[in-house]
Amino acid sequence: MTRELSLQTTKLLSRLLPPADTQAFIDIRRQIHANPELGFEVSATSTLVANLLREWGYEVHTGIGKTGIVAQLKLGNGTRRLGIRADMDALPIVEATGLPYASRNPGRMHACGHDGHTAILLAAAKALARTRDFDGTLNLIFQPDEENLCGARAMIEDGLFERFPCDAVYALHNAPGVPLGTALVVAGPVTLSSDVADVTIKGVGGHGAMPHRSRDPVAAAAAVVTALQTVVARNVAPDDTAVVSVGFIRGGATHNVIPQSVTLGLNVRAARPETRALVEQRIREIVSFTAQAHGVEAEIDYRQLVPPVVNTVAETQLMAQVCTELVGEANVVTQVPKGFAGSEDFAWMLATLPGCYLLLGNGEGEFGGCMVHNPGYDFNDQVLPLGAACWVRLAQTYLVA
Ligand SMILES: [Zn+2]
Ligand SMILES: [Zn+2]
Repeated sequence: MTRELSLQTTKLLSRLLPPADTQAFIDIRRQIHANPELGFEVSATSTLVANLLREWGYEVHTGIGKTGIVAQLKLGNGTRRLGIRADMDALPIVEATGLPYASRNPGRMHACGHDGHTAILLAAAKALARTRDFDGTLNLIFQPDEENLCGARAMIEDGLFERFPCDAVYALHNAPGVPLGTALVVAGPVTLSSDVADVTIKGVGGHGAMPHRSRDPVAAAAAVVTALQTVVARNVAPDDTAVVSVGFIRGGATHNVIPQSVTLGLNVRAARPETRALVEQRIREIVSFTAQAHGVEAEIDYRQLVPPVVNTVAETQLMAQVCTELVGEANVVTQVPKGFAGSEDFAWMLATLPGCYLLLGNGEGEFGGCMVHNPGYDFNDQVLPLGAACWVRLAQTYLVA
């Protein structure tokens, strides 16, 4: 089933973004789609973005967090400062859409819709520079390397919010399988944190026939894997969310040798900062005490990759108000869809500032319903005017004297 935007919504959008402009930005979106770049290596995309923004009168700052950009527009005497973020990077995937504007860079593909997110923010930037109907400071943030969860942090560590202070920061992502014209605006946790841990269990190697002369790290590792299953089941509340997965077990070489050590690779996710801390603490305790019970030693290298995205209440209410105006109350959903368990490095920005991460339905049709990171995925161009209108109305509503 495919769905078009309602006539009323289309009329509203065409007032904010004239149809000729919409087509121009769809063309830009497809140009970015055809020339995908990875990680921090988004120089062609960021050059295209910076040149357009300069043309429209923005003060453009490049090279923040390697290839990140901030474009600033100050109007009036208003003291409020708004940040809106888009991501620019693609994925190492061989595109299989067969579209006329499919990737020209073999093995690289815009399979997460960041081409769309960038074009959306550009479209909003042009509309706001033309109408000039806000009062305050608008900071448009275009970041690299979202997929490896490093770009937002790199920009923040490079002084993003000291150089361009914001009172709140917003971002959006398309949501395949969610109907076109549906906005998911959720107060509280939206995406999960993502952490990894390498657990090294050190025993004393020996002959498989004489286990009493060794300290077996394999038996201890097996006990650790089993005990880890209780971390979520016995510590996390039924209405909260966390995941602990053991992704690999490495150790040993042959049948008759008890190895010196075994390494476990863990992936840990949680919906709330407190749950994330609790899960880490329980993993550390279980690893340490289980090792002790088996007479072996354990070392844990625990690395926090990205916190959960947690939307703040007031900023989410404002986003919901803007979305309601554009798509109607019936199409604004305030709950995270079941089974939605991704991570997003915009979380670093929300760990610093209040704000909201918005999800817009990418549709349910052939491409719209195809999941992100799939070689058959494409961003739905009908989301472009809606996304741009969300940012235009947000800026006009937030930036008032
Ligand atoms: Zn992605
Ligand atoms: Zn993405």
